[in-house]
Parts: sequence; structure tokens; C-alpha cells
Amino acid sequence: LLEVDGLTKKFGGLVAVDDFSFEADEGEIVGLIGPNGSGKSTVFNCIMGRYDVTEGSIRFNGSDITDDATHEVVNKGLSRVSQESNPIHEMPVAGNIKLFTLPNKLTSFYGGATDEEIYEYAARIDIEDKLQEMPDELPHADVRRLEIAKSLATEPELMLLDEPFAGMNQAEITELADQIERFRQEGMTMVVVDHNMGGLMDLVDRIVVLNNGDFLAEGTPEEIAENEHVQEAYLAGE
Ligand code: ATP
Ligand code: MG
Repeated sequence: LLEVDGLTKKFGGLVAVDDFSFEADEGEIVGLIGPNGSGKSTVFNCIMGRYDVTEGSIRFNGSDITDDATHEVVNKGLSRVSQESNPIHEMPVAGNIKLFTLPNKLTSFYGGATDEEIYEYAARIDIEDKLQEMPDELPHADVRRLEIAKSLATEPELMLLDEPFAGMNQAEITELADQIERFRQEGMTMVVVDHNMGGLMDLVDRIVVLNNGDFLAEGTPEEIAENEHVQEAYLAGE
């Protein structure tokens, strides 16, 4: 469904991502891990049309999206949950979700999603009882769920999740992993970034490892957990 081929991204003299390739097949949950600064978020930014690609190509659903603008990528069925949350603080949860349905080609003609539709997006990630609350009143885990609800509101076929478990306690991590598994059962494909394997072990089919912008390894969670090169890369980064 998603094919990243030979992706290179340079910032001046810094090579953030170097000839990196990976794929996500329909219905898969792929983990993308790597030490801090290894280029994970940059890969997502290139896929989403936030950064211009220096070299390489990105294909989604058979179409070349390498040079697409963000709104084009979103309209083709890709969305991303950013590493940082950035809700609009002056708007309740419902309004924050509704904003993300406005650029959606299905609903913008009618002025965005209806209240029922917003309730459904929120219910998919279990924050439907928080719709009238302001983002700043929510605990961290619910702020992150709001970011996921915003992403769901664009009706993606494939969702990129950048460190969705960061800052969560074990109970929250388990709950979110169950919710992500539910999205898969609903037919969604996902790529989940994490800086380590914590939340991914029981969730993903396959893990791809980035180190200093380079492809380092790929395998099942069990294979990656035992991979010496991966362990060395993490030790070097500490
Ligand atoms: P983390 O685990 O800390 O989120 P990451 O794997 O997501 O790290 P990136 O954020 O992709 O890493 O950063 C990869 C490299 O690219 C870093 O050296 C970073 O400083 C650099 N970089 C990322 N975005 C930019 C930018 N907009 N301008 C310049 N350098 C950038
Ligand atoms: Mg990052």
C-alpha cells in the first residue's frame, strides 16, 4: 500500500535520511524504531509532503505522491499523528476534531462533519465523553487521543503514528495498543514510530530499524529484540 524507495533527505550538509526504503502492506501494522535523531519523524514529514524529498520516491495506493502537497496526500487517504500535540487551546475537543474534517473532500462542501460524525470519530478512540472539554483540561493521554481523533477525522486508509505512547503509563500504553489493534480490525494500515520497542512488542507484525538515517535491520519484534546490531546502536546513542 505504501512504498518508500531510496528516500534521502538532506538539510544543508546534514543527511537526516540516507537511501532508506520500506513498505507497509494493506492491513499491516509496521513498527519504525531508532535512537533519537535517527530520522523517523523526517521520514513521516517526507511522506506527508511537509518536507521536500531530496532523492527517492514514495508511492501510495499505486500513485506517486513524492512531490504531493500535504492536502493532496491527505485526500489520497494518508494521515499522520504528530509527535507533538498541537490542539487549538481556545476550542473544545469537538471543535478541534471538526476542524480536521473541513479539508476532507467528502464533508467540506457541507461545512464539515455533523455532530454525530464528530461523536463517531471520538468514540473510535474512546474520548466521546470529553467532547465539550477544553484540551488544556485533559490529561496527557487524552490530549494524545485527541490528536488521533483529528487524524481519524480525515478518514485515512493508512495512518502514521509518531511516538503515540510517549509520556504514557503502562495502563495507558496497553489501552492505546488495544485501540490501535481495533483500527487494524476495522481495515486500517498503520506505521507506528517509537524510540524503543516498549509499546510495539505485541502490536506490530514487523519492525524496521533506522540508525543515523540508515536502514539498520528489519524483522519480527522477537528478531529485532535479539538483534545485536540494534542493541549496539541503542547503546551508542545513550
Ligand atoms: P526523535 O526520536 O528525537 O523524535 P527522530 O528519529 O524523529 O528523533 P528526526 O526528528 O527525523 O529524528 O531528525 C533526524 C535528523 O534531522 C536530526 O539530526 C535533526 O536534527 C534533523 N532535522 C530534522 N528536521 C530538521 C529541520 N527541519 N531542519 C534541520 N534539521 C532537521
Ligand atoms: Mg521524531
